[in-house]
Amino acid sequence: MNRPWNFAAGPSTLPLEVLQQAAAEMCDWHGSGTSVMEMSHRGKHYSRIRDEAEADLRALLAVPDDFEVLFMQGGASAQNAIVPLNLIGRAGLGRADYVLSGHWARKSFNEAARYGDIAVAATAESETVVDGRRYGPWCWLPDHARWRVRPDAAYLHLCANETIGGIEQPVMPDMAALGAPDVPLVADMSSNILSRPIDFSRLGMVYAGAQKNAGPAGVTLTFVRKDLIGHALPQCPSVFDYANVAGAQSMFNTPPTYAIYVAGLVFKWLLRQGGVAAMDAASEAKARALYDYLDGSDLYENRIAPAWRSRMNVPFFLRDESLNAAFLAEAEAAGLLALKGHKAVGGMRASLYNAMPMEGVRALIDFLKDFEARHGG
Ligand code: PLP
Repeated sequence: MNRPWNFAAGPSTLPLEVLQQAAAEMCDWHGSGTSVMEMSHRGKHYSRIRDEAEADLRALLAVPDDFEVLFMQGGASAQNAIVPLNLIGRAGLGRADYVLSGHWARKSFNEAARYGDIAVAATAESETVVDGRRYGPWCWLPDHARWRVRPDAAYLHLCANETIGGIEQPVMPDMAALGAPDVPLVADMSSNILSRPIDFSRLGMVYAGAQKNAGPAGVTLTFVRKDLIGHALPQCPSVFDYANVAGAQSMFNTPPTYAIYVAGLVFKWLLRQGGVAAMDAASEAKARALYDYLDGSDLYENRIAPAWRSRMNVPFFLRDESLNAAFLAEAEAAGLLALKGHKAVGGMRASLYNAMPMEGVRALIDFLKDFEARHGG
């Protein structure tokens, strides 16, 4: 099947193999006589689907035994509240620190501010100069050495990949080096999970909406260190209390069964591709090819400081913005979909998640070159 290349930021492209398998199994899963959508979440068929999804996810990310893997609902936006509701009251601390790297971290910060004393550990909301070049707000990240974390914060939150801005934290900070060895790090990895290994020894929890790198919208992958569970504030809804969700193997209420099933197919597809190590190498190669082309071009530009450029979401601008409409129309006609940038940033954005092969990136670069040849200089 010949499909156009879909560069959407999320929900985003899924591997064709996964879609075809889901279609083939739609009405009768493995001779069960029912669709996965029709199964009891407590029955033997669905239990197998769920257990395999968790086991495969654990294998892909080498999740240590002292972490619970929870399949939750509400998306990453709900976690912006669920995280403080569960963690901020730990040991009566009532305070947490946030790194402001862009739109999504700012949203997390604003939500958390409803539940306690929330402070900014570092922010990129002003301009800066890196290697003699000026970068605008949200186009760079402060080095870890400049982060200020309160040693008695209940946690430090960061967004590992800013989907809108196109900024990625390539390495998780060492909390001991930040002078806060006991502060667990919480990472929103909605848009880069499964594209690189996760060093769980540096993290207390990770959450990610599935709809970019892991499957359909509707399930939130949540990894919580066990000692952080069981400290929810009294006002935390029962269905969002990690202790309840973990205690019921993510079936405290009816889980998003179909979304978990498709995510499970994606996990098996990832394992067949060589796992996260293969995705890491592919992400590096795809992003390098696109950034190299953009950097060498006279028509296009990426405005993010190179050390923090996202491998998943590549925003770029046409220097002559009057060409934007023609660019998007011609791209779509050439089979390259969803390249329009987020309205908060403007310009264009190409998302290069796991299911986007190098072939798709080459098709994009060929189009960029062709468009530049016709409209540039
Ligand atoms: N965090 C990041 C980094 C995101 O990219 C998004 C959505 O695009 C969200 C949070 C919000 O996710 P959801 O729509 O699943 O609530």
